[in-house]
Amino acid sequence: MLPMSPVVGRMMEVPLLVSNILAFAERNFGAVEIVSRRVEGDVHRYTYRELGGRTRRLANALGGLGIAMGDRVATLAWNGYRHLEAYYGVSGSGAVLHTVNPRLHAEQIAYILNHAEDKVLLFDACFLPLVEAVAPLCTTVEHWVVLAGREHIPAGSSIPNLLSYEELLAAASDQYEWPQFDERSAASLCYTSGTTGNPKGALYSHRSTILHAYASALPNALNVSATDTVLPVVPMFHVNAWGIPYSGLLSGAKLVFPGPQLDGKSLYELFEAEGVTFSAGVPTVWLGLINYVLQNGVKFSTFRRTVIGGSACPPAMMAALIDKLGVEVCHAWGMTEMSPVGTTGVLMAKHLQLPPQEQRAILQKQGHALFGCDMKIVDDLGEELPWDGASAGHLLVRGPWIISSYFKQEGGEVLEDGWFPTGDVATIDPDGYMQITDRSKDVIKSGGEWIGSIDLENIAMAHPAVLQAACIGIAHPKWDERPLLVVVKRPGMDLSKDELLRWFEGKVAKFWIPDDVVFTDALPTGATGKIQKNRLREQFHSHALSS
Ligand code: ADP
Repeated sequence: MLPMSPVVGRMMEVPLLVSNILAFAERNFGAVEIVSRRVEGDVHRYTYRELGGRTRRLANALGGLGIAMGDRVATLAWNGYRHLEAYYGVSGSGAVLHTVNPRLHAEQIAYILNHAEDKVLLFDACFLPLVEAVAPLCTTVEHWVVLAGREHIPAGSSIPNLLSYEELLAAASDQYEWPQFDERSAASLCYTSGTTGNPKGALYSHRSTILHAYASALPNALNVSATDTVLPVVPMFHVNAWGIPYSGLLSGAKLVFPGPQLDGKSLYELFEAEGVTFSAGVPTVWLGLINYVLQNGVKFSTFRRTVIGGSACPPAMMAALIDKLGVEVCHAWGMTEMSPVGTTGVLMAKHLQLPPQEQRAILQKQGHALFGCDMKIVDDLGEELPWDGASAGHLLVRGPWIISSYFKQEGGEVLEDGWFPTGDVATIDPDGYMQITDRSKDVIKSGGEWIGSIDLENIAMAHPAVLQAACIGIAHPKWDERPLLVVVKRPGMDLSKDELLRWFEGKVAKFWIPDDVVFTDALPTGATGKIQKNRLREQFHSHALSS
């Protein structure tokens, strides 16, 4: 127990519960709209008030299915209003919302459902074939609920007793008192993608969720307000869509959910139709949207600001959004184990007079820590490194929405002296701007020095003929490892290896310049849309470097 001052504060002790956000939003912003492109193909719209009513019905329906405090209820769904109802209905009633990534393979999904001991699976009708493959491998799920009306559920499924979500809600009362309980209770569960070994669960508490929602809504971060229309492209099945289902509601923002249609054209049309002002997503999604807008000569009429994170935002992408499309970009960094937002990149007052290019260099960093995420960088021996913008070290974090151990203690003790090692390598400058140079496992070690693959990729992607680039270390008899650049060219563009290597001259130290370039049609991406460097390393491990 921590010591307490003899003078105790005299403020109410109200637990920080997820259901409080919904109750607040309904009471204060009841008429605000939530618009969803549905799996059924149409666009659905209703208000926060209607969200509240249906969410209470869901809480009652879950009780009717025998779900008790602490039970896990899984979802396999795109971004949409029913998924949002699950966010509040499941956690609000004291159960634990377990969002599952539908891009995983059936065996991985079954592993996760069994590990979490989920009792109910709520899923979009389009995932029925996947669920049918998963179901025989599952040992704990008692109820399979299709997030649709009965008319959208195909007959003759191999899963007996498929339940219709709409039927469950219709049969339940909309009267329900949200239970009050300890804010440290678990609210939701999200598994890391497990690029090495089995996925591990990050179990968020009500308290961590609310604190993260408060902090991430602030002007230095997502900057969401009641005048915004927010479209989270970032999926609700991965790290709670960066908390937007919570921060959006507590800010009173209109929410727009894109469902499964995440291509550039569909997103652009939805942005325009609903007057989206703010969005958030990983770089790969923005590629599609930016290409669509530029190729078709269209413009955004309301879209003003976006947060990009999940992997490094290439400077060329930032430039296209800011300079060509007039969209402000905030570069953010975080991870599943951090709820996820840790840092966001915005300027300080003293930067406002700087020339645009200098401002841009600042914005390209991953940014300042949010209050609630303490950071430090250390060397291989654990000694803290200075915040000089040059010393790169292992990045460690701590704070009230950062993991203390994985679900079921998987992987044992994860903290180092009370700090969580992120697995990222970073610099921090004297103003507190953090910049990721690499993931520890992706760093290229050449002749005793570290070469940051992100820098090399950013330079490559600034070349007009390069669409995507990934840089990996290839074993080298003399230097230990040397960089190999794997590149996807822009359609119809010509580019030779020598031309691309010359592009690096003068931009980085000579020994950083990749030894070789391989052109390919596509880079492998994982379930969260990130480039899978481990697969590239396997693919090219015996590649003979040409220099
Ligand atoms: P996983 O990739 O295992 O699913 P996360 O989605 O939690 O896990 O990803 C977290 C990792 O993504 C971070 O540790 C970091 O390596 C990378 N990442 C996230 N945001 C950024 C960013 N803005 N720039 C560079 N890397 C990032």
